[in-house]
Amino acid sequence: MTTIFKKIIDREIPAEIVFEDERCLAFKDVDPQAPVHVLLIPKKEIPSFSHLSEEDNALVGHMMLKAGEIAQDLGLEKYGYRVVTNVGPHGGQTVFHLHFHILGGRPLAWPPG
Ligand code: 5GP
Repeated sequence: MTTIFKKIIDREIPAEIVFEDERCLAFKDVDPQAPVHVLLIPKKEIPSFSHLSEEDNALVGHMMLKAGEIAQDLGLEKYGYRVVTNVGPHGGQTVFHLHFHILGGRPLAWPPG
């Protein structure tokens, strides 16, 4: 099922893009929950983390490395940050295109609500 994130990939709706390569795209969350709040998504349409399969092995590894590089580029390395993906209703997922939240710029509570 196509989501709003596919429209961002296809430039049908605007987003503040901070990183892009052939496999993934990162852009600022429209409703930021921290001073830095970026979403990193695969260009491949995968509904959620629980839909990943063996064939996505390299893609996910690539995205995890990029998440760290993006966090560093955004100045989050010094004080730390969080990379998180919400899955399903209990996880709080609202957009069914896999995405990793990169959050930082303030202390983040643990455990999450
Ligand atoms: P989830 O709740 O699924 O983990 O995260 C979805 C995220 O997408 C939310 O943080 C929400 O603010 C963000 N979001 C939803 N629609 C848009 C949009 O059109 N543009 C951008 N940049 N972010 C969006």
